[in-house]
Amino acid sequence: MTFISSLANETRIAARGLLDYVTGNGLRLGVTGLSRSGKTVFITALIHNLLRLSRISAADPNRTFPVFRVHAENRLTRSFLEPQPDDNIARFEYENHLADLTGGAKGPDARHWPQSTNRISELRITLEFERSTGWRKGADALTIDIIDYPGEWLLDLALLSQTYAQWSTETLEAAASPARALFARDWRNFLATIDPTGEASETIARQAANLFTAYLRACRDDRYALSTLPPGRFLLPGDMEGSPALTFAPLPIDTTSTIIKDTLAGMMERRFEAYKTHVIKPFFRDHFARLDRQIVLVDVLSALNSGPAAVRDLETAMSGVMSAFRTGQSSFLTSIFRPRIDRILFAATKADHLHHSSHDRLEDILRLLVNRTVSKAENLGAISDIIAMAAVRATREVNVTHNGQKLQAISGTPLAGESVHGETFDGSAEAAIFPGELPADPKTVFNGEGIAMPDNDADYRFLRFRPPLPGPMVDGHAAPLPHIRLDRALEFLLGDKLV
Ligand code: GDP
Repeated sequence: MTFISSLANETRIAARGLLDYVTGNGLRLGVTGLSRSGKTVFITALIHNLLRLSRISAADPNRTFPVFRVHAENRLTRSFLEPQPDDNIARFEYENHLADLTGGAKGPDARHWPQSTNRISELRITLEFERSTGWRKGADALTIDIIDYPGEWLLDLALLSQTYAQWSTETLEAAASPARALFARDWRNFLATIDPTGEASETIARQAANLFTAYLRACRDDRYALSTLPPGRFLLPGDMEGSPALTFAPLPIDTTSTIIKDTLAGMMERRFEAYKTHVIKPFFRDHFARLDRQIVLVDVLSALNSGPAAVRDLETAMSGVMSAFRTGQSSFLTSIFRPRIDRILFAATKADHLHHSSHDRLEDILRLLVNRTVSKAENLGAISDIIAMAAVRATREVNVTHNGQKLQAISGTPLAGESVHGETFDGSAEAAIFPGELPADPKTVFNGEGIAMPDNDADYRFLRFRPPLPGPMVDGHAAPLPHIRLDRALEFLLGDKLV
C-alpha cells in the first residue's frame, strides 16, 4: 500500500471513529464465528431477551437472567429497536428469525431454526437504564449496534501477507492431507490436466474455481466439520456471488520462477490480488476496524463429535481468526486497520447438547484451544473471557437407567430425520438420550479423545434437536426462550457500560 492511500484509510477510520463517538453513548458489538457456529440464533436470543428484560421485574420467579446486573438490580427501564444506522448494511432480520424459532403466528408446531448467516448484517438496540454510581448517576441510555459477520471473512487476513504462489502451495498442501484428500479428489484430478503456464482461459478459471469451491464446501459438511480455509467469500460470498474477483483458484506453480502475465497462472494471480484489494481490505477497514466489543462463537461440540482431525482443523481456523484480534503492532496491519476492540468473549455454543456437569469441561477445552493459539501470537490487547453457553436451550435434563446404570441424560425433540441406534425420529416426539461426557483433561481431545459414551457405544452420533416448545406466559407476555449462561455472556460484553 502506498503512503498516500494508507494515510487516506487512516483518516477515513479516524473520521468514522469520531462519527461513532458523537452519535452518543454507543457501542458496536461484533458477533462472529465460522458458519453454523450459532451467530443467527445467538443474536436473535440476545435481542429477544434484551427487549423483554426491561418489561419484567428482576424478582420474576423464573429468574432467567440473574447474572446480568443492570436487570438483576432492577435498573433496566426500557429497551427498544432503533432504525438501521448504516444504509449500506443489511438489517439483521430479527422478527423473522424469532418467528422461525417460536413458530410465530403459525403456532409452536411450525418452530424451526432460522436460516444461517451468510453475509454481514446489523441491528441497533437502545437500552435505557439508571446509573447506580459515579458522577453520571441517574437516567442514561446505551445504544448498541450488533454487527453479525461470517468468521470465514477474518481468515482472509492471512492472505494479505501472501503472494498468489505462496497461497497456492499452502492450499494444495492442505488439500493433500489425509483428512481432506477425498474431498479434493475431483478438483486435484482436474488440476492435473491443465497447464498453469498455458494461455489464460476464462472457461478453465471458472471450472477450477467451481471445483475448488465444491471442495471447500465438502470440508464444511456437518458430518466432517472441517473448518474453512481462506478465501472466506468462496463459501460465504454475501453480495459478491458470481463476481470475477471470486473466479480464481490455486494452481500447482513453481514458487521459484516468476509468473508470466498472460498465462493462466498470471490471470489467477491478478484476480487473487483484486480479491485482496476489493474484498478483504474494505471489510477490515470499513467494518472490523469500527468494532468496540466482540463475541466469537465456536462450535467445539461438532468438531469433537467429528474426531481429532476436525478438532485440529478448528484450532487452525481459530488461529486465523485470532490473528485479526492481535494488536500486532505490525505496521503492515495497522496501515489497513487498527483494532479498537477492548473486550473479546470466546463462547462454545450449543452447550444444551451436554449435561450441565460437562459445561465447565467444555469451557476448559475452548480455553485450551484459544490459549494455544494466543500463545503463538502476542497478546490480544483486550480483556478476554471464555464461556460455554446455549443461546437457546433446546433440551432439559433427566435421569435415565441404561443397562442397570443410572445416567444423567438430556431430553428434547430430535429434528425429523435424525436417527440413533436404528431409530429414526419424525420431529414430533421428545426423546431422552445420554449426551456423553467430555474428558476431564482437555488436552486429550487433541490426541483423539472425544465424547465418552457408556459401553463405548460406537453408534453414538450427535443428535440435533428442534427449538424448545414455548413455556407458560410470564407477566402476560410470551414465555422467554430458555438459555444457558447467556446472562453471563451479556454481563461480560455490556455490564461495565451499564453500571
Ligand atoms: P450461523 O451460521 O453462525 O448463523 O449459525 P446458526 O445460528 O444458524 O446456527 C446453526 C445451527 O446450530 C442452528 O440451525 C441450530 O441447529 C444449531 N444451534 C445454534 N445455536 C443453538 C443453541 O443454542 N442450541 C441448540 N441446541 N442448537 C443451536
